Amino acid sequence: MNQDLRKVALVGTGMVGMSYAYALLNQNVCDELVLIDLNKERAAGEAMDLNHGLAFSTSAMKIYAGEYSDCADADIAVLCAGVAQKPGESRLELLQRNAKVFSSIVQAVLSSGFDGIFLVATNPVDIMTQITCSLSGFDPRRVVGSGTALDTARLRYLLGGLFEVDSRNIHAYVIGEHGDSEFVPWSQAMLATRPIIDICNDLSDCPCTWEQVRAVEDEVRNAAQHIIRAKGATYYGIGMSLARITKSILNNENSVVTVSAMLLGEYGEKNVFAGVPCIINRNGVKRVLSLSLNEQEIEQFHASCHTLRTSFEELSL
Ligand code: NAD
Repeated sequence: MNQDLRKVALVGTGMVGMSYAYALLNQNVCDELVLIDLNKERAAGEAMDLNHGLAFSTSAMKIYAGEYSDCADADIAVLCAGVAQKPGESRLELLQRNAKVFSSIVQAVLSSGFDGIFLVATNPVDIMTQITCSLSGFDPRRVVGSGTALDTARLRYLLGGLFEVDSRNIHAYVIGEHGDSEFVPWSQAMLATRPIIDICNDLSDCPCTWEQVRAVEDEVRNAAQHIIRAKGATYYGIGMSLARITKSILNNENSVVTVSAMLLGEYGEKNVFAGVPCIINRNGVKRVLSLSLNEQEIEQFHASCHTLRTSFEELSL
């Protein structure tokens, strides 16, 4: 990785891509950002619009609309291109359409000589990440999906509200597929270092009921459909999640984020990408963290991985 110039190549300048770009600019995450889209006019317009905010930012970021050849010296290629989820459409239904788009994109990125880290947001994100890994031939640790990073942020926000505590002091994860089979391993959910289950069992100490806590899981699972019904698409939350992962990589942070990573024996699963807490640094996924799941949670995790594996295997790439 080039330590002097932190460069991000963004493919797909739609709502998700540009919310991410806007977060990068406001948080001064990189030094150079190239915007690439099938719709070149859109990418050029987005670059102009962002550049006009530079005078008000603390960043001196170089932002321009470019070509795939501009990926050559990028540290990260972020893939947000594709078609957005329609109301009522499952993420897995998007698969076939987006798989086709990715075969041309990944090939074009590789043709530049790109040798960085792929970060994928396009849905269904776990499978699109596995497709990217398979098409690129990269070491799986250098191919990362946004996974359940956003779902985990939603969970922490909602639990923070219930327990009337800063969501940054909630340590709980959504794991598995970014989609219908995702779940919360409640045995691993903590407020500071105290298990949430214990707090709920202690009537004198808990501002909410266990039923209210459990209901949060469905609220998280259905959040995207809710937002899509209300405003057509979701983009700010995922933009912030992608910026968080990007910072972990560019700043070599060793931060824990629930990204989509290839499992290589962890949790008894192999050769499938799923959302799990991982240590992220300049090499991508440094390590998948193995949580101490109970028997029921392990079963749920296997079921989620089974859904993902089946969908990936059904594809003809
Ligand atoms: P959008 O329609 O606003 O933007 C998609 C962009 O991709 C468009 O600018 C389009 O021109 C571009 N594009 C299409 N085909 C291309 C190609 N072959 N090469 C280059 N660019 C191409 O959609 P959006 O709302 O930005 O959503 C993008 C993706 O992100 C969708 O798949 C959506 O489901 C997904 N998403 C993921 C999460 C998550 O948590 N991972 C959250 C929200 C949305």
